[in-house]
Amino acid sequence: MAAEQKRDYYEVLGVDKTASQEEIKKAYRVLAKKYHPDMNPGDKAAAEKFKEASEAYAVLSDAEKRKQYDQFGHSAFDGTGGFGAGGFDFNSADFGDIFGDIFGDIFGGGRTARGGASGGPMKGANIRTSLRISFKEAVFGCDKDLTLNLKDPCPSCHGTGAKPGTNPQICPKCQGKGQVVYTQQSFFGTVRNVQTCPECGGTGKVIRDKCPDCGGSGYTTSRRTIRVSILAGIDNGMSVRIRGKGEPGLSGGPRGDLLVEVLVSGDPQFVREDEDIYSSVKISYAVAALGNSVLIDTVDGKVLYDVKPGTKTGTKVRLRGKGVPSLRDSKVRGDQYVTLVVDVPTQLSKEAREALKQFDALTGNTLAPVVTDAERAGDKKKKFWSK
Ligand SMILES: [Zn+2]
Ligand SMILES: [Zn+2]
Repeated sequence: MAAEQKRDYYEVLGVDKTASQEEIKKAYRVLAKKYHPDMNPGDKAAAEKFKEASEAYAVLSDAEKRKQYDQFGHSAFDGTGGFGAGGFDFNSADFGDIFGDIFGDIFGGGRTARGGASGGPMKGANIRTSLRISFKEAVFGCDKDLTLNLKDPCPSCHGTGAKPGTNPQICPKCQGKGQVVYTQQSFFGTVRNVQTCPECGGTGKVIRDKCPDCGGSGYTTSRRTIRVSILAGIDNGMSVRIRGKGEPGLSGGPRGDLLVEVLVSGDPQFVREDEDIYSSVKISYAVAALGNSVLIDTVDGKVLYDVKPGTKTGTKVRLRGKGVPSLRDSKVRGDQYVTLVVDVPTQLSKEAREALKQFDALTGNTLAPVVTDAERAGDKKKKFWSK
């Protein structure tokens, strides 16, 4: 994109060439709020407008850059990096913080990790853990007790970390802002670079006399047992959120959440696929040929199923409603698909062998011819295939 094709920065922000810094900031704030990607998810046109406005603001809000722009236009920023033609990178670490205070205004404090420095209440961090349950516990739901270490605000210092009777002091390095601003020389002149204060770690406060009960951390840790209710139908890898059982909040903010990933063990009989269950059952040749009622295992126990006469091996039958309850509505259940496998016996009694031979003599005539015992005894040398 050639620099000449770009819209005039003043035009983009809708301000006069003589606009004050305050007017420029105000104009950008309106545009940023309107076109911010968070407010317009998936809207490419809005994203473009947001980028364009941000670029204009990045230049016009900086006195040095604005002067260069006024004098040379877009060509002031051609070529060497930075806001070269089309090369504006809003996410660049150097420039991202120019907008920090604006977005703080738009979205309110606590949006970023630095929210703590503003002193506003911040929700505590989430804790992640996992829990293993059996196949059937996942199908029908269960309550499980989970024991873990949880932090609480120290009762002696009420979470400040300062020795009782003393208070944390405002950090002298950042004056309580939690951030320090470094300036950096660049092609445009001076660029502000904001970093978390190394002295206070961004909290804006330093503790002179540490609380002896928590060592200045502001927290105590205790082992606690939490009951986790697992919904019927949960699947392997899903998480259960237990609100308010995460890390304590900052400055009176709410606790974070406990996120429990559920790991479901396999089952020797059943395989699950979404809300359906798959299994197989062996039936005898006689049952397959003649038909009969058989008992089939389901997660609810055994059910009676009528095998039709003439059932082939590999036949799939559906047991309606014997699958997994839906997480959306536990009254709705998937199905169980059972593969009927005709079993070939490997160990037979003499009687059973004779009966089978008789049976074969009566029924086997449409199948591949076999050699009878008499034929085999008559001429051992004769090859079967030469008959
Ligand atoms: Zn303490
Ligand atoms: Zn500090």
